[in-house]
Amino acid sequence: MKELSQLIRNIPASVTLAVNDKAKALQRAGHDVIALAGGDPDFDTPHHITAAALAAIENGATHYPAPMKGIPSLMEAIAHKMNIDNDIHADPKTDIVVTPGGKWALYLALAALINPGDEVLYLEPVWVSYPPMIKLAGGVPVPVSLSPDLNYRVTADLLRAKITPKTKALMVNSPSNPTGRVLDHAELREITKVAIEEDLYVISDEIYEKLVFDGRKHESIGSLPGMAERTLTANGLSKAYAMTGWRLGWLVGPENIIKLAVKLNSQTVSSAANFTMHAAVAALTGPQDFVEEMRLSYEKRRDFMVKGLNEIEGVDCKLVEGAFYLFPSFPGSEKNSLDLAEALLEKAGIAGTPGIAFGSSGEGYVRFSIATVMSDLERAVERMAKSIHEIL
Ligand code: PMP
Ligand code: GLU
Repeated sequence: MKELSQLIRNIPASVTLAVNDKAKALQRAGHDVIALAGGDPDFDTPHHITAAALAAIENGATHYPAPMKGIPSLMEAIAHKMNIDNDIHADPKTDIVVTPGGKWALYLALAALINPGDEVLYLEPVWVSYPPMIKLAGGVPVPVSLSPDLNYRVTADLLRAKITPKTKALMVNSPSNPTGRVLDHAELREITKVAIEEDLYVISDEIYEKLVFDGRKHESIGSLPGMAERTLTANGLSKAYAMTGWRLGWLVGPENIIKLAVKLNSQTVSSAANFTMHAAVAALTGPQDFVEEMRLSYEKRRDFMVKGLNEIEGVDCKLVEGAFYLFPSFPGSEKNSLDLAEALLEKAGIAGTPGIAFGSSGEGYVRFSIATVMSDLERAVERMAKSIHEIL
C-alpha cells in the first residue's frame, strides 16, 4: 500500500481530547477516577437554549442553513454581541462566519492567512491544538515562551526576538488555556505595537472571555486602534454557555479574509448545523444570568482548589486569573509531566493533562480542569494530599 499522509501522521492527536476520553472510559468501566482532564463544563445547557433547538427541529431547520455561512438572525446576534461585549464592529453581512465549534474558526483563520512556510507565533504554554493547526495550514509554529516567574507576561521584546521576514501572524488566547492568564491592557498594547510595526495579523482566541476572576475585565485586542484590519477574533458557545457538544463557534474579521474562510467552508464542512444556529440565537439574545452564575461557581472552585493544592507539600499552584484550569507545578518531584500525570491516575485516581502537551515550557506541570463539581474537587485534594509521597 502507498504511504499515508506525512502531514497528518506527523502531528500528534489532541492530548486534551485523548486524556478526556481515557478518563471517561475508565469511569464507564467502573474505576473510581476523578476526571479533571478535559475542559468541558459540568453544567447542563440552559433549558431555553435546548428548547429553542427542539423547536427549530420541529419547525424544519433540518436542511442546509441559508445562507450557509450563518442564518441572518444569528449573524445579527453575533454582531450585536461583538459590539457590546468586545467593542468590535462587524458587519453581519460580510465580516462573520459561523463555524462548527471555535476550533474550526481558528483553523479557518490560519488557513485563510498562511502561505507555505509562513511562520506563526504563539504564546507558550499553549493550548495543545495551535501548533498542529498551524502545520495543517502549511505554516511553521514558532513558540514565544513566557515565564511563570513573571506571571507569563508578554512583552514586545519577547515577540520581537522571534520575528523573521517570514512571520505572518500571532495567535493569542486570553484568558489562556492552560495558564489562566488574562492579558492586561498594557500587554495588549505591546502586542498591538509589534503587530502594526511588523505588519502581522493577530488571531485572538476569546473562547474563555466570560470566565475572568477577581473583578478583571476581558479586553479584545481587535478593538484597539489600528487592529480591526489585522485581527481575526474567534469565539463560540462551548464554554460560556456550557455547549461543548453543540459545536458552534464563529470567526469575525475583515471581509476579504472572511470571504476566504467561507470559501474553505463551502468545500469542506459546508456549515455549522442549522438548528444549532437557532439555539445559538437563543443563547446570545436570551437571559444571561446563568453565565455569571457559572463564572462565580468556577471562581469559588478555583479558590478552594488553589488553596487545597498549595497546602500539599511539593505542589505549587498559582491563583489563575481566568478560564477554568489550574496549572500546578510539582517542585517536590523530579518526574516529568507524563510520569506525574500517570502517577496521579494510578496512585490517586485523578486524571489530569500532562503539562508537556502544552509545549516544552509546560514540562513539570499538570493541568487540572475545574469544570467539575465541587465534591469531586474536594475528593481530588483529599486523595492527592493522602498519596502525595507516592505521586512525587
Ligand atoms: N480555544 C481554546 C483555548 C480551547 O481550550 C478550546 C477548547 N474547547 C477551543 C478554542 C475550542 O472550543 P470549541 O471547538 O469547543 O468551541
Ligand atoms: N479545550 C478543552 C481542553 O483543553 C476541550 C478539549 C479540546 O478541544 O482540546 O481540554
